[in-house]
Amino acid sequence: MFDKILIANRGEIACRIARTCRTLGVKTVAVYSEADAHAMHVRACDEAWLIGPAAARDSYLNMERILDVARRSGARAIHPGYGFLSENARFARACEEAGVVFIGPPASAIEAMGSKSAAKAIMEKAGVPLVPGYHGQDQSPDHLAAVADEIGYPVLIKASAGGGGKGMRRVDSRAEFREALDAAKREAASAFGDDQVLIEKYLLEPRHVEVQVFADSHGNTVHLFERDCSVQRRHQKVIEEAPAPGLGTHQREAMGSAAVAAAKAIGYVGAGTVEFIMDARGDFYFMEMNTRLQVEHPVTEYITGQDLVAWQLQVATGGTLPMEQNQLRIQGHAFEARIYAEDAARDFLPATGTIRHMRTPAEGPHVRIDTGVREGDTISVHYDPMIAKLVVWDQDRTSALKRLRDALHQFIIVGTTTNAGFLARVASHPAFIEGGVDTGFIEKYRDSLFPPVSLASDHALSAAALFELLTVDREAKQRAVASGDPWSPWNLTDGWRPNSDNFHTLHFLDGEQDLEVVAHYRDDCYILELPGGECRANGELGDDGHLHMVLDGMHADAWVLRDGQKLTTVVGAELRELVVHDPLSAGMEDELREGSLTAPMPGMIRAVHVKAGDAVKEGDALLVLEAMKMEYTIRAFADGIVDHVNYAPGDQVTEGAELLAISSGD
Ligand code: ADP
Repeated sequence: MFDKILIANRGEIACRIARTCRTLGVKTVAVYSEADAHAMHVRACDEAWLIGPAAARDSYLNMERILDVARRSGARAIHPGYGFLSENARFARACEEAGVVFIGPPASAIEAMGSKSAAKAIMEKAGVPLVPGYHGQDQSPDHLAAVADEIGYPVLIKASAGGGGKGMRRVDSRAEFREALDAAKREAASAFGDDQVLIEKYLLEPRHVEVQVFADSHGNTVHLFERDCSVQRRHQKVIEEAPAPGLGTHQREAMGSAAVAAAKAIGYVGAGTVEFIMDARGDFYFMEMNTRLQVEHPVTEYITGQDLVAWQLQVATGGTLPMEQNQLRIQGHAFEARIYAEDAARDFLPATGTIRHMRTPAEGPHVRIDTGVREGDTISVHYDPMIAKLVVWDQDRTSALKRLRDALHQFIIVGTTTNAGFLARVASHPAFIEGGVDTGFIEKYRDSLFPPVSLASDHALSAAALFELLTVDREAKQRAVASGDPWSPWNLTDGWRPNSDNFHTLHFLDGEQDLEVVAHYRDDCYILELPGGECRANGELGDDGHLHMVLDGMHADAWVLRDGQKLTTVVGAELRELVVHDPLSAGMEDELREGSLTAPMPGMIRAVHVKAGDAVKEGDALLVLEAMKMEYTIRAFADGIVDHVNYAPGDQVTEGAELLAISSGD
């Protein structure tokens, strides 16, 4: 075994590789960019070297720097993880020339599979089934269009050098073909510097089923069964599982053998994945081979009880595979959900932000979390926005899926938008529960997976109100102790302001909706007037934002975090972002009568939809204010004529600033 290896990657996969190395007694060398100086993978390794600025091409893709660190640190081998240099044949060769072991297949195998077209030609020869299509050299648009006609629409245009769904276009009719071809070629040229494409029959409602293969340098090749990765957005995976639901033994064996044949056809060594696309009849076709460890390898580890990184290291040191085919068995069922910083409701737009709070389900035999970030870390624009992989296992699919749902509900991240709620909806969907997955799943069930936005529940509002009340109470008590006169009437908190019947009205903005909670002070609790009715409420608030609530005798745990005026509440699976707002102090209600609108909080004007003289109707959007990374639309409170507008897009405004004025138009 190696004494020391370099991990040429970052994030969760670097941490995951380091974990196996630790158990094997192999020392690890991390490399990091300037943006990652405090990243988790830097701490996870025995030593860490700075390799350059944040941009990947200057750091994680900088072959010379990485090889230089390998040489200087005395690392004998390099594990590339996935992404970055993992499928770069030139890097695999450069390692060889530098006398460092590349923990991956031979450069020739990477090259053979690097082009989807060339890979298909090899697979055709090896007798591996292919999707009907054209993967030849004649790239003239007329020829490609003729091929598409012959295959029959819909067809899929794919970049030969493709990956990550780039340079891929579905075409439904001849009329759309030329335009789609141009677009695919442009995208391919800019992403891969190569505009060669192939044309395939577009399969309707197919499944993505891939097989994990492993080979050593002594001629042994096995497969470790399949993974179903059909749940995808933008042709990229979000939930994977093993084994594939509903796959018969016969089919499993056929796919396994085809995958092994594919690996053998290119003299494969190490971990690889053969991706198949499967039609509704269960017929499967080769799609491509990934010559590295896949993101979703943990589901295979769970069902086989094997550590694939340990297998990779053993093979890379020249050892034989730890097991033969007939020793490998499937045990139980595993799911992986990829938790991304992204906004599912806005077409899965990647999000950024600093993780202020991260609560994860407890890890154990049934739950595994692979992550490379922790509280305080920033999800930046430089790298992949994946926060964590949540992996669960149980004896059967139904039990494993229940574990996935429970774990997703316990996965709470505050500070950036995540897809955790969306994943929980997928995991709860009746069609998914039945195992009815195909690559169009998200599109097909769009309506139920993206329910209309609801307002904060009474529980969420109770948590927000209790947080505010208990915080004021605590601050007053601290003030009282500090003042030396704990009994001074100025330090009382029952009612905030001395008012006759001891109540206080709290306002929370949920989106654009102002939700009101009236809190009446009692000796032993608060009576909260909530949208759904009254509730006797009390609670204990910890310094870390943990709130133990008692609502009409029911105990519940909540988390509340405050960032300026923004409150994030988490009760059960409900995560809410509310803005604490006091319309009186912001002057809004007073101003409304005067006919002008003021900024409810400091921020920046994002858009102005009206100008002086415009007639507006009650409810019309007037302008958009961005504050605390959220956008608020300021709307007309009544019909009228815009009198004047004081700001333009890009302007900063302070809280209470007059934004515009409306006259009644009489
Ligand atoms: P990339 O390497 O860019 O990720 P793949 O060839 O792996 O591209 O395909 C990505 C996804 O696109 C597949 O998982 C599948 O959902 C879809 N796809 C690929 N080929 C076809 C096809 N012939 N018909 C229908 N869908 C396809």
